[in-house]
Amino acid sequence: MPNGLITINVPSTSRLPDNAQWTNRFKIHSSTSNRVYTVAQNKTGRFFGCSCKGWIFNKHCKHLQSLGIPGNYQKVQVSIGPRPTLAFAPANA
Ligand SMILES: [Zn+2]
Repeated sequence: MPNGLITINVPSTSRLPDNAQWTNRFKIHSSTSNRVYTVAQNKTGRFFGCSCKGWIFNKHCKHLQSLGIPGNYQKVQVSIGPRPTLAFAPANA
């Protein structure tokens, strides 16, 4: 299980403001439908949650998994930064 800092690159257009219980909130698009889910970190428990049924019923989901974030109320330390610009992307040639 990851113990260190997890870095997640989130485009600024996907970031959402904190609310009473959640911080580091951002939108994530479903890979299989037009749905948009909200991923966020609980302010007191420091675990991540997702607004999809997978997380609501099972406390883990493919959205968190795809971001490298553990489910099941595991505490996570994250650094959320901007998406890297193309200048930093590996060259295709
Ligand atoms: Zn999810």
